Amino acid sequence: MKDLLQIDGARLWASLMEMAQIGATAGGGVRRLALTEEDRRGRELFARWCREAGMSVVTDEVGNLFARREGANSHAAPVLMGSHLDTQPEGGRFDGVYGVLAALEVVRALNDAQAVTEKPIEICSWTNEEGARFTPAMLGSAVFAGAMPLADALAREDAEGVTLGAALDACGARGTRPVTGVAVDAYFEAHIEQGPILEANGTAIGVVTGGQAIRWFDVTVTGVAAHAGTTPMRYRKDAFFGAAQMALEIERVIARYAPLGLVTIGQVQVANSSRNTIAANLTFTVDIRHPDDAQLDAMERDVRAACERAAASRGLGVAIAPCWTSPATPFDAQCVDLVAQAVTALGYSNERIVSGAGHDAIHLARYCPTAMVFIPCVDGLSHNEAEDALPEDVTAGTNVLLNAVAARAGVRIAAAA
Ligand SMILES: [Zn+2]
Repeated sequence: MKDLLQIDGARLWASLMEMAQIGATAGGGVRRLALTEEDRRGRELFARWCREAGMSVVTDEVGNLFARREGANSHAAPVLMGSHLDTQPEGGRFDGVYGVLAALEVVRALNDAQAVTEKPIEICSWTNEEGARFTPAMLGSAVFAGAMPLADALAREDAEGVTLGAALDACGARGTRPVTGVAVDAYFEAHIEQGPILEANGTAIGVVTGGQAIRWFDVTVTGVAAHAGTTPMRYRKDAFFGAAQMALEIERVIARYAPLGLVTIGQVQVANSSRNTIAANLTFTVDIRHPDDAQLDAMERDVRAACERAAASRGLGVAIAPCWTSPATPFDAQCVDLVAQAVTALGYSNERIVSGAGHDAIHLARYCPTAMVFIPCVDGLSHNEAEDALPEDVTAGTNVLLNAVAARAGVRIAAAA
């Protein structure tokens, strides 16, 4: 254990709880929407803590807040850690803020150990990750990674018609550092899992291997409208029962891709619906996900075939229209290995896991070598005021982040620990 750095779990927990008071809700959660007064206070507290830890703080043109701990080689590209301080309207105390304050605790622990790193280490709190006030979600990291032009981001409006640019100014969060073209050696993000897998398996750490691919479709089923009382069953072309058969058939064929393949039918709409008319025109949505693009291709073929088989067997029409797609985002093998090596050295239970949700790290992964560390959240709950995490898991995830980042940054400890 002599080479392993350790964070101060009590200090990190105290910081998390202090930050959770900014925008605290009666239900025990947090409401700290992007670029509001609460967000301004959260940013200010975080920046103060960073300065107290000896870091310099700078904001870029879209409000992404960077804090820097200098390296022995100040010209080297920094190893970046981060996440977000904004929350959902009825959010929790850990989503996002955990990754930001875990990164701060990493720096505090390096300071305690009087550690020198070859490369500089930076922390970033990304602007408007949640997408609750301004769409899209993960806006600040999208602009940083070149996935969205700055001008488009600044023109986004909230529900009251306030632009992101105006909100940045009102919040004092618009900086002058250019948001794009910033060299980054690697990016590491710690986050609560926001799902039930780690907790169910009794695993302390999720070594995240990447983000999954997503595709959305609209399926339109066409039958013949007819009277519910006068049309014998064998003469019917019922779009609803056809769609029901398609849905069950889709569920059956996608089960072959378990556990990684996922399918959801989230919206169903019968046009001109009436309780005593046979449904003639029905549309349902299909959302399919898999970490592997080739597997998702196969899932799409199976979904299409299932719909066409069911339609043919009932003499119905079917049209399947793609509406959105996002490719799989595998994380960098070397960075994932650094996380895995840190977990093994620290002796935590762990498993490889795919990120089901979107994260800033997904944008960063298309820009620089990236990896994530997941910790369990109680009952798998997130985007919920009851969102919770256990102190020992919070500490474990941060120890993993510390040792992975220290290794990547080339750590040297002056005196033997
Ligand atoms: Zn988050």
